[in-house]
Amino acid sequence: MAAMARYQCPACGQTYAADRPLWRCQCGSHLNLAPGGGLRRGDIAANEASLWRYAAALALREPPRISLGEGWTPLVWRGWRGVEVCFKLESQMPTGSFKDRGTAVMINHLLEVGVGAIHEDSSGNAGASIATYAAASGLPCRIYVPAAAPASKLVQIAAAGADLRAIPGTRQAVSDAALAAAGESFYASHNWQPHFIEGTKTLAFELWEQLGFRPPDNILVPTGYGSNILGLDRGFDELERSGEITARPRLFAVQAANCAAFATVWAAGGDEFVPFSPAPTIADGIASPKPVRVAEVMRALRRSKGGVVAVPEEEIAPALAALGRLGLFVEPTAATAGAALTRLLHDGTIGLNQTTVVVLTGSGLKAADRIGELLGLLDPRPISP
Ligand SMILES: [Zn+2]
Repeated sequence: MAAMARYQCPACGQTYAADRPLWRCQCGSHLNLAPGGGLRRGDIAANEASLWRYAAALALREPPRISLGEGWTPLVWRGWRGVEVCFKLESQMPTGSFKDRGTAVMINHLLEVGVGAIHEDSSGNAGASIATYAAASGLPCRIYVPAAAPASKLVQIAAAGADLRAIPGTRQAVSDAALAAAGESFYASHNWQPHFIEGTKTLAFELWEQLGFRPPDNILVPTGYGSNILGLDRGFDELERSGEITARPRLFAVQAANCAAFATVWAAGGDEFVPFSPAPTIADGIASPKPVRVAEVMRALRRSKGGVVAVPEEEIAPALAALGRLGLFVEPTAATAGAALTRLLHDGTIGLNQTTVVVLTGSGLKAADRIGELLGLLDPRPISP
C-alpha cells in the first residue's frame, strides 16, 4: 500500500496529511489528492476480480476493510450506427451505478482514519451507494436527495437503513441542506471528498487492462460533477508517468443540454463557473447546476484534447431505446452517452477505425417506471429506436 497520502488546496496552497476525516480546506475550497505513485503491470493483483486488483496504486494505508465486489465490470463490444464500440457496464456495480468505485475507496479511507456518523447529498445514485457501504461498515448515515428523485433510488437508500431526507426544490437546495448539516456529522460528500476520485481512477486502469494494456482513443462519460472525468484523467496520468502508455484517450464529458454547467464553461472558453439557467431533464443523475471542481474538469478535458457534448432532451429517449435493443438496459442519464456518440460519429469527431468506449454509468433498474413511461413501452405502440 502507498505511504501517507496528502491533500493539496488548489485555492490557498495549504497541504494536509490524509490522516483524519477531511472534506475541504480551512479556507473553504475543495481539496485534491497529490499525484499518486502510478501503476505498473506487475503491480496488478490479477486474481482479484474487483477494483482491489489495483490496490497497490491507491492512496490507502491498509487493505480494504469493506468490499462488496465493486469494479472489474464488463467491457462489451456492440455495433452502434454501423460502428463497433465498447460499452463499459458500470451499471453492473453492487448498487447499480459507477459510484461504487469512488464510494468503496472513500469509505475505506474514512474507516482507516476513524470516521463516525456520516451524511451526504446526492441526486440518488451516490446516495444509494454511500448508504449501502455505510450499512456494510456499520456507520450511521443520513442522505439528502431531491424529493423528485426516481422512487427506486429513494427505496434503495432507505432499504440500506440510512436516514433519508427528501428535499423539495432544486438539486442545489439538496446540497445546501447537506452543507448546513456539516457540523452534525462528517460530510462524506462524493463531490468534495478527494478519495472518491481516487476510486474512480480505477476506471482508467480497467479500460487499459481490458483493452490488452492499451488505452482507447475516445471515452464518452455522462457528466454531472465530473468525478469520472477526473478519475480517468488521474488514472491515465499515472499510467503515463509509469511508462505504461504513451498516448492518452480523448475524454468527452456528456451533459444534458437542459442542465449543462461544463458545456457553458466550455463555450465561454475559460475555467471558471459561468452562471446559467438550468431546465428540468430526464437525465436526473447529471442535473448538476453547480459542480465543485470546474477548473480541474476543464483542464482534464483540454489536456485529453476531448471536449463537452450537450445532448438535447429529445435525443435521450431514442438513444435509450437503441441501447435497450442492444441488450444494454440503462437509466436515461447513461443513455446521454449513446446520444453523444451518435453526434460525434456524425460530425466526424470520432473516426470509424478508432477505439471508443461509452461508459454506461447506471442501470435501467434505477428508473424502470420512468423508462417505461418515456418510451411508451406499456402502450400499444412503443417508440422505435
Ligand atoms: Zn485552502
